[in-house]
Amino acid sequence: MEIATDCGRIPTVTDTDVLLVEDAPEFAQLATNVLTDAGYRVRTVSTLADALASMSSAMPDLVVLDLGLPDGDGLDLCRSIREHSNAYVIVVSGRSGEVDKLKGFRLGADDFLVKPFSGRELVARVEALLRRPRTDSAEGLPRVFGDLVLDPHSREVTVQGVKVDLTRIEFDLLETMSANPKLVFTRQQLLDKVWGPNWFGDDHVVDVHMANLRKKVDVADQKSWVRTVRGVGYSMAL
Ligand code: CA
Repeated sequence: MEIATDCGRIPTVTDTDVLLVEDAPEFAQLATNVLTDAGYRVRTVSTLADALASMSSAMPDLVVLDLGLPDGDGLDLCRSIREHSNAYVIVVSGRSGEVDKLKGFRLGADDFLVKPFSGRELVARVEALLRRPRTDSAEGLPRVFGDLVLDPHSREVTVQGVKVDLTRIEFDLLETMSANPKLVFTRQQLLDKVWGPNWFGDDHVVDVHMANLRKKVDVADQKSWVRTVRGVGYSMAL
């Protein structure tokens, strides 16, 4: 899967792929027409499943995402896009109240539009986003691992939508691992990061807190979020 990571590049209209995820045929048609007329390459799908399939073949530069889709909630897709790519996301909803509510959340959407809106407005929003170079990448945004979500800003962790109370140490351990989820951290690295370089003590303390962290975030009968790498240390279990 090709993911646009060259943050400084501002795509020109002609090499910009837009994925439109919309199940209402009349709106899908209108949006496809105006965006195509404006010079964008547009793929149009009407379900979450088709959106995922389309993104796995080629990551778009920008996604116009309707929230109410026949096979699920567009917000799940929004999170997953933000997790895997730098694609811009414009969330579309038929209910202004819903959009107002969503603006308060850090879902990774770059813009919101309430239906109905004109084709001209859609194109203007798309152009405005593409002019804005994406330099922040995923930093500071919620990190989503399936049912587990860690928000580095609010220092909140939820599992299956339910907030989990973690101690400062437990949160920092999870925060450290989730910032580089593929990296295996040694106990010493975790001590340095979480306890600080001036902490002198048995690195067994890491195991104790990891065990407590697992008790709080792991779900019964599911694999642990924390992977023990024998003889080395810990990482996220992906
Ligand atoms: Ca819809």
